Amino acid sequence: MGKTIAVVNQKGGVGKTTSAVNLAAYLGSKGKKILLIDLDPQGNTTSSYGINKKEVTLSGYDLLIGKCSADSAIKETRFKNVGIIPSNMNLAGAEVELVNEENRVSRLRTALAKIKENYEFIFIDCPPSLGLITVNALVAADTVLIPLQCEYFALEGLSQLMSSLRQVKRLYNPNIDIEGILLTMYDGRLNLTGQVASEIKKYFSRQLYSTVIPRAVRLSESPSYGMPVLYYDPKSKGAMAYGNLADEFIKKNKRG
Ligand code: ATP
Ligand code: MG
Repeated sequence: MGKTIAVVNQKGGVGKTTSAVNLAAYLGSKGKKILLIDLDPQGNTTSSYGINKKEVTLSGYDLLIGKCSADSAIKETRFKNVGIIPSNMNLAGAEVELVNEENRVSRLRTALAKIKENYEFIFIDCPPSLGLITVNALVAADTVLIPLQCEYFALEGLSQLMSSLRQVKRLYNPNIDIEGILLTMYDGRLNLTGQVASEIKKYFSRQLYSTVIPRAVRLSESPSYGMPVLYYDPKSKGAMAYGNLADEFIKKNKRG
């Protein structure tokens, strides 16, 4: 119970939020109890679930600085089986405020310990950096899910991320593992996409999801309606891709 998955890639705009939001929604619809934690000051996950960032009183920030319990920061959403710990701009200050604090890397882990058992899966949407907020997510996580866009610098970014992961593993979280690598905004017609994908397969064949997420306009529209794509346009190709990913995710987790 309470498997915690950090959705992470220090590169911006690769589909972290889209993947966290939509995988959570599908797993919730399939009967899994989900907590989604928005740990990005941009608050895109929060908005994608139709929550007004300006109205957020308790956020991931309050958790990190130890001002509230995880339990009190959880908001139920309109969508089946998904609770959320929202974010707002306050979170941007957390990196600076925590820098000299004790246990600064394990704040989130400590906060989540008390509620972990109430959920089947906890997803943490990380900001595009490897700073203290992301490190808190990696220290709290059992596994990492890495969305990757098939472009020229993807592999370089991935090896940088792997080296951060090794460091976190060595210093704070010896059991952390890779949940999976997900190719996003996939366009099989492009040569570069094929090259990058086969390169990743060479090194990470076991971790690479066989589901790929195509570039799909409905996925970029649904956040502005404050709902995951499953509720916005369930028959669209983007929705079906995340539905398939949820099935693959569940299967993989059954195998253990
Ligand atoms: P950041 O690093 O800024 O947090 P991110 O990695 O969370 O970004 P997203 O916000 O999920 O990335 O995606 C970046 C942009 O691309 C968003 O506008 C999103 O709607 C769009 N997008 C994501 N995935 C797809 C897709 N498969 N098809 C079309 N648009 C997509
Ligand atoms: Mg994001």
